[in-house]
Amino acid sequence: MHHFYRKNGSLFCEDVSLSALAEKYGTPLYVYSARTLREHYQRLDSALATLDPMLCFAMKSNSNLSVLRTLARAGAGFDIVSGGELFRVLKAGGKAARCVFAGVGKTDDEIAFALREGIFAFHVESWPELEQINRIALRLKKVAPVAARVNPNVDADTHHKITTGTYENKFGIPFEDIPAFYDKASRLAGIQLRGVQMHIGSQIISVKPFRDAAKKMLPLALTLKARHGIEYFGMGGGLGIVYDPALESGTAAWWKKQKNPPLTPETYAAAIVPVLQPLGLKIVLEPGRFISGNAGVLLASVVNVKKTAHKNFIIVDAAMNDLIRPAFYESYHQIEPLTVRRGKLIGSDVVGPICESGDTFCKERPLPPLSAGDRVAFLSAGAYGFTMSSNYNSRPRTAEILVDGKKIIVARKRETLDDLIRGER
Ligand SMILES: *Cc1c(COP(=O)(O)O)cnc(C)c1O
Repeated sequence: MHHFYRKNGSLFCEDVSLSALAEKYGTPLYVYSARTLREHYQRLDSALATLDPMLCFAMKSNSNLSVLRTLARAGAGFDIVSGGELFRVLKAGGKAARCVFAGVGKTDDEIAFALREGIFAFHVESWPELEQINRIALRLKKVAPVAARVNPNVDADTHHKITTGTYENKFGIPFEDIPAFYDKASRLAGIQLRGVQMHIGSQIISVKPFRDAAKKMLPLALTLKARHGIEYFGMGGGLGIVYDPALESGTAAWWKKQKNPPLTPETYAAAIVPVLQPLGLKIVLEPGRFISGNAGVLLASVVNVKKTAHKNFIIVDAAMNDLIRPAFYESYHQIEPLTVRRGKLIGSDVVGPICESGDTFCKERPLPPLSAGDRVAFLSAGAYGFTMSSNYNSRPRTAEILVDGKKIIVARKRETLDDLIRGER
């Protein structure tokens, strides 16, 4: 659920009209709902309360400082994948001690930074990486807390570009190799074996892959607990959200109507708590999209409408450099006019101005008639939206707004033309 809804035909985020925001701050514009972020965090945290959970927000999905600060205040830790992300956590007032560090290619500098700041654990993806961390820890006279990322070889049943838990993927250490990995690792003086972890993919919309993976990991985790005294089990992230119909999914009535409700904190908890409770370990989760996805929208203005004998192209001022998910993952974003437009629906291609055919948000989507100057919202754009944006075609990146009740926070200023060439000569 989320706090984007229509009132008298106009789209709102919490108590603020999106048209008013577009008017004042221009488009394209990202808008996030603080209340939605907090509620997603809190609902998941309470659903898992019996497991002693630590929720580490996967901040690669949305790393704006105001978003991080909102979640840090709610109690969240962070799943980081670079030194830059750790820097952001510290700037936002988050605690390094509640950060886990993932990724197959951590550099020496990033490892040293994380060790000095005292992160909760490194999620290690290979033996060479473990030796690298050990070497740096010894040099800094520290002991590095680590958990191996296990590749459990289960299919997450999601888009191939976001499947991570099979042996086809670059991620993790094969399941079968883990006991020997821990025995060998326990002899390294710079390493503390703190936990064991997995992450099988993203936008997983049924509980089955999670339950299957947890069941497969359970005996392994028990062995590691007995042999090496590990303290936690990491379930990863990957909880999927509703992209269609995103607007209706903001309402309690819609959820009540669903015969097979999409993944909720409660259905997720019901599937994994019984499996994980016997472990008696702390449970670390790394949800990204589940927290931020439906907490954000991207606003755009229609620049032109181009009708041909074959097509109705709606050309907007947002493009694939602002929101790359449709081009990259063929993903769906519901598109809603900011104020209701009446008239017969027309199969429309909504496209950006960039010189790539891939710069297409949707094809043949039935949309009401739109004309130049009209404004639309791409819903569910709070995850992997702004964070994946670029300056391609020398387009300044958008501003970001965080709404909290009636309060409007300019979470990031729109880039200027001078920003585009900063640092260049
Ligand atoms: C990307 C990622 C996540 C978050 O994935 P979501 O689908 O956004 O929940 C969590 N853990 C790791 C290791 C990741 O790479």
